[in-house]
Amino acid sequence: MSGTSEGPRPAAVAASGTVRPPVTERHSADRAAAESVARAAAGHRDYRGVFQTAHLAMAVLDHHGTVISANDALAELLGTEPGTLFEQTAADLVDLASDIRTWHAYREVLEGRRARLRCTRRLKHPDGRALWAEVNVSPVPESRSVLLSIADISDRRELQARLRHLQMHDPVTRLPNRTLFFERLTSALDASPYNGGGPFGKGRPYGGGSAVYSEGGPLGDTGARGHDGRSYGHGGTGRIGLCYLDLDGFKAVNDTLGHRTGDRLLAAVATRLTECADHDGYTRSGGHLVARLGGDEFAILVEDSTGTEQLADLARSVLTTLQLPFDLAGQRLSVSASIGVVERAVAGTTPTGLMQAADTTLYWAKADGKARWTLFDPERNAHRMTRQALTSALRPAIEDDEFVLQYQPLVGMADGVVRGVEALVRWNHPQFGTLSPNRFIGIAEEDGSIVQLGRWVLHTACRQARQWQRDHPRVRPLFVSVNVAVRQVWDSDLVTDVAEILAETGLAPQLLQLELTESAVMGSAGRPLQALQALSDMGVRIAIDDFGTGYSNLAYLSRLPVSVLKLDGSFVRGFRYDDGVHPSPADETIVEALVQLAHRLGLTVTAECVETSGQAARLQRIGCDTGQGWLFSRPVAPERIAEMIAATAPRS
Ligand code: C2E
Ligand code: MG
Ligand code: MG
Repeated sequence: MSGTSEGPRPAAVAASGTVRPPVTERHSADRAAAESVARAAAGHRDYRGVFQTAHLAMAVLDHHGTVISANDALAELLGTEPGTLFEQTAADLVDLASDIRTWHAYREVLEGRRARLRCTRRLKHPDGRALWAEVNVSPVPESRSVLLSIADISDRRELQARLRHLQMHDPVTRLPNRTLFFERLTSALDASPYNGGGPFGKGRPYGGGSAVYSEGGPLGDTGARGHDGRSYGHGGTGRIGLCYLDLDGFKAVNDTLGHRTGDRLLAAVATRLTECADHDGYTRSGGHLVARLGGDEFAILVEDSTGTEQLADLARSVLTTLQLPFDLAGQRLSVSASIGVVERAVAGTTPTGLMQAADTTLYWAKADGKARWTLFDPERNAHRMTRQALTSALRPAIEDDEFVLQYQPLVGMADGVVRGVEALVRWNHPQFGTLSPNRFIGIAEEDGSIVQLGRWVLHTACRQARQWQRDHPRVRPLFVSVNVAVRQVWDSDLVTDVAEILAETGLAPQLLQLELTESAVMGSAGRPLQALQALSDMGVRIAIDDFGTGYSNLAYLSRLPVSVLKLDGSFVRGFRYDDGVHPSPADETIVEALVQLAHRLGLTVTAECVETSGQAARLQRIGCDTGQGWLFSRPVAPERIAEMIAATAPRS
């Protein structure tokens, strides 16, 4: 190089066998220093030549960090003439002051308090290209100068970046793959100050005592953090969101049109998803991570989400864009997708927790009919979990006697006298406490254990009714009304069960009423109808529970062996405005007509959910026979019913 016209100078030399690089000095003031080094290197003149022609870019700095001498390789690396480097500060040349920790470490090396600084820097060559440099700074032994060396690691970095890109992307859609997605998700959750990560992440090895401080990992900016040049997790909203998406019926596309078409479709879907993610109106930077998690599953990760509304809008726009048909090499295809949406605070959120929630929510979206998005619902989730727990515990619980019956009075509307009681089952679950039947009857119906449970209820209720009768022989005996599930009529020999239980307990059939829902008896022919008829013939009364919620075909019902209608609570609730200010004559007219019709068909009518005396007064006026509800009594333990009976017993 023309700038090195002064030619070789005396070499520096090693102390105790360590190479001290020779220097090229270009300034008289510096010459003294260089010459002292050179003198020390007497007999090792060739070192200077080594320094000068070395491939490794090097400079010797004084203890202020000013370049005393630099070799040709450094000048070339920085795209300058060697002469221009002299007296420049190394910190400017290789950007050592841009971050505070590197700067501190560098100062410590200059001051002889630290053995070495190594860091990676991205430098701009004057010809415009960027290069990656590994910078090493270490003191020259027994002198106050410092050796700076810079290795161009651009090729290595590029290779690493390419390898990493291959490892982290899906070849079909070119989207980030599962690995990159989880890396990014983990980093977004870890980096949050809410989860204990500071702005520099966790456990960086920097500290006053550590000898080597390395800036950035070996993969530097291609790492999760710098994927698109943003830094994540600080100064954000402290929230995170995820759209977890699965194409509906993608397998059929693959199976019928082949994998090539399937792949094309996936790639086209990926493009549309990316467009949606880039045009999110909520964040100016847009550009949420879109990843292919495998098969036909995709995810859009929204860091610094602003709330569920943002995620809902994103999910909607994804569904809209996917609805447009795809033209794939002459084939026109339509697809839809189901999306599970989760949005929550970063604090306390783990990658696994978030993904499990997303998975569950996606399952709901599919189960609810596909081609839709569904938002994660903690209650539904808890319900799902307890549902599983309850299902497995049901059968053992029947054997372990965890069920109890409560009884709710059925009261004559005209005289207020208790005529009977409805038996209502409760589950004293060892873990979840007392569970209402709405929590477990459905499950018991699904898995068939209702048959066993129903038999237990029937037996217990009949025995109890007989017991009250025995204990209070002078009081008109109460009838007991027992709920019967559809499956009990279909899957068990209800008639035989009832006959045996009545015989065993000694309860008169007239004191037993069975409550079935409309849907259980509507359209019943064959076996159920025969069963109802046989029970009725035995003298057992059949009541239609929750009447009015189903088909409400009174004419049909009257042809069945049914003797009681239990008007659903919703009718009585229509009487709510019984304050005289908000009368609801329409409801009252309907109920009145119903009651009259029922009476004409030979049915008696019981009103459920009677909560106020106003409601009771109206029901009485309309002609309801009996009522049941909190106004009279909540469902109570059998002892309480015994007390009620005792209170009505004639004194003698
Ligand atoms: P259901 O047969 O219609 O029972 C009436 C429900 O209304 C009971 O709820 C009762 O506690 C509630 N209730 C009574 N009075 C009032 C009131 O004034 N206001 C309001 N808001 N509610 C009132 P519960 O005990 O939770 O039972 C719910 C359902 O579970 C029952 O509805 C019945 O369909 C079913 N069930 C209960 N026990 C059994 C059983 O042993 N076998 C079967 N198969 N089903 C049962
Ligand atoms: Mg009932
Ligand atoms: Mg009911």
